Amino acid sequence: MGHIMTVLGPIAPETLGPTLMHEHLFIDLAGRKQDPDTRLDDVDTACQEVALLQELGGRGLVEVTCLGMGRQADAMRQVAARTGLQVIASTGFYQKSYHPPYVSERSAEELADRLVREVEEGLDGTAVRPGILAEIGTSRDEIHPDEAKVFRAVALTHRRTGLAISTHCTLGTMAEQQLDLLEGEGVDPGRIVLGHQDLRDDLELHVRLARRGAAIAYDTAGKEKYMPDAVRVRLITGMLEKGLGDRVVLSMDITRRSHLSRHGGYGYGHLLRTLVPALRAAGVGERDLTAMLVDNPRRILTIPD
Ligand SMILES: [Zn+2]
Repeated sequence: MGHIMTVLGPIAPETLGPTLMHEHLFIDLAGRKQDPDTRLDDVDTACQEVALLQELGGRGLVEVTCLGMGRQADAMRQVAARTGLQVIASTGFYQKSYHPPYVSERSAEELADRLVREVEEGLDGTAVRPGILAEIGTSRDEIHPDEAKVFRAVALTHRRTGLAISTHCTLGTMAEQQLDLLEGEGVDPGRIVLGHQDLRDDLELHVRLARRGAAIAYDTAGKEKYMPDAVRVRLITGMLEKGLGDRVVLSMDITRRSHLSRHGGYGYGHLLRTLVPALRAAGVGERDLTAMLVDNPRRILTIPD
């Protein structure tokens, strides 16, 4: 039972198709990064780019842009309506350097009230409802006190709304501490996705976290400069060998114009076009691929009635 909330409304979990669990269709980090490449803001472009994903069998996309990151709820709705892509939107707060100024001033309870209002009433004055709390961030090698407060606010929001939680670990760090924090606040690890774990080549750690019940996101496929896809293949097959295929989700985390096909980047199709065949070549079977791309997203994203 339960449902998955897309930008066009609730759907039955079994109707969600192969899904990228950590992406951005619209984002604006250009102010802080002083780099216009980190702004995605055009609906026509997004529609053309996601067509490359859909041609390869992609059906769903979790859009993790949240408060302070240039989220565009109505633009996401337009892309979903025009392309048929199953888009799941987010609410939450990213890492400290991108927090809106009010985050430091308010209590965890007040921040939770703000997030619950978005879940219940819609995003930024639209009827678009978020389907996940994401991408909840921590800094590199540390959790700033405001980030810890946001994690408490998100746990409170989760308990009040039933939305799953997906995190941002800067360069893959602090995942264990994030899980400790959320579990300590009573969140079932089965509803937690620990982000960017492919940026930390540490299979032992991933196995430990997955055995506690959390999903491990290998979600930066194609970012060869950060970590080669060959390492992702090794980590994923390592998890599968340990019988943890039900704790792995996949994505690319496209955030830049230069990531898009039209600008010579790998585009939203890269994972299905390149990484999945590489996994098959490494011996990964269809059942495990379906688990990572379909079954796990359905299970994690399902909001209990
Ligand atoms: Zn991130």
